[in-house]
Amino acid sequence: MRHPPPAMTDRPKRTIDTQAVHAGEPRSYPYDALAAPIAQTATYTFRNTQELHDYFQGKTEREEYGRYGNPTVRLVEEKVAALEGADDAVAFASGMAAVTTTILALVKSGSHVILFSDCYRRTRQFVKTVLGRFGVEHTLVPPADLDALKAAIRPETRLIVSEAPTNPFNTVLDLPKLAAIAKEHRVKTMIDSTFATPVNLRPFEHGIDLVVHSGTKYLGGHNDVLAGVVAGKHGFVSLIRDLRHVLGAVMDPHAAYLVHRGLKTLAVRVARQNQNAQALAEALEGHPKVKQVWYPGLPSHPQHAVARELMAPGYGGVVTFALDATLEQGSAFVDALEIPRIAPSLGGVESLVEQPALMSYYELTTEQRLEIGIPDELIRYAVGLEDPDELIADVLRGLERL
Ligand SMILES: *Cc1c(COP(=O)(O)O)cnc(C)c1O
Repeated sequence: MRHPPPAMTDRPKRTIDTQAVHAGEPRSYPYDALAAPIAQTATYTFRNTQELHDYFQGKTEREEYGRYGNPTVRLVEEKVAALEGADDAVAFASGMAAVTTTILALVKSGSHVILFSDCYRRTRQFVKTVLGRFGVEHTLVPPADLDALKAAIRPETRLIVSEAPTNPFNTVLDLPKLAAIAKEHRVKTMIDSTFATPVNLRPFEHGIDLVVHSGTKYLGGHNDVLAGVVAGKHGFVSLIRDLRHVLGAVMDPHAAYLVHRGLKTLAVRVARQNQNAQALAEALEGHPKVKQVWYPGLPSHPQHAVARELMAPGYGGVVTFALDATLEQGSAFVDALEIPRIAPSLGGVESLVEQPALMSYYELTTEQRLEIGIPDELIRYAVGLEDPDELIADVLRGLERL
């Protein structure tokens, strides 16, 4: 199946709010339905062998087999491409399927990859442990350090990988500078933009080659589906799509329906999550029981100036803070909270809270965690859509218990 470029239903270019609702969709679906249909099928039929000949000779645009394409999945791809301002996008079964397929499509034995050290743990593990077995080398550079990045570039460097903002400290990279350095050295750039969403930041518009999302988080937005998407230029996206056809980590049609529905409300959800997170960060900063708050919307954040230049209307829904407390006291604080649920993940309608030391980094000792910059007293709070005053009152009450 050859995939046509995204429908240009968003010309003249609309705001992200209007695009989220309409972009990438045909004006009518089968049966004149308003809502997107779920094409719940594993394969597609040919009425006769002539149709097969016509298809393989490129005379007809149609679907062939579920691993190669699905109309409901295609709707997600077209909407994300439009929201990112990219040429095209390709959807996956999960964020990690998107990350791994993209990196695999771009490197070969002997290639070198540069990662920022605060990169998503599983991405780092994939590059180090899996790609390392196939002769791909990598270098970790300190968060947001573009001088260290420049120094790490070698003739074999193929790809630079980062998140924007990063997990859990919300480090914000200067993307236009990163893109300029990469172009100068003919290195490709991949930004995991899960935390920002295209509502707050569009890396492709700043010269980044590939933008990846865990659609499980804000794009889906309801904590009910795993998904991944990659957006970029036609050439790269079709290269990645071809490898998806081989590796097979495709998005399921029903998952695609849920992500597509989630995308319709992305702009309003993220706008509210920006406001909730900003309010929570401001309430936490300066509280006697809170040592430090990492939120890009606070002037105290190390990259606040860069964030203000690149991000609008807000700075995302994740607030990370260090309590003036031990690991156990931190747990007592988390247990005292009545609104957020304790869970990994973020970006959905429900606020979620976690202690990174007890979640992603459980198997490490306190000393090992400190080596990679994760103190025991750290809390990651991913706001949902609840009332901000009630979220803050709940947190302040939790702090009183310390
Ligand atoms: C969750 C997450 C991933 C992985 O996505 P899955 O959908 O869980 O596979 C990758 N990057 C970031 C920044 C994430 O938050």
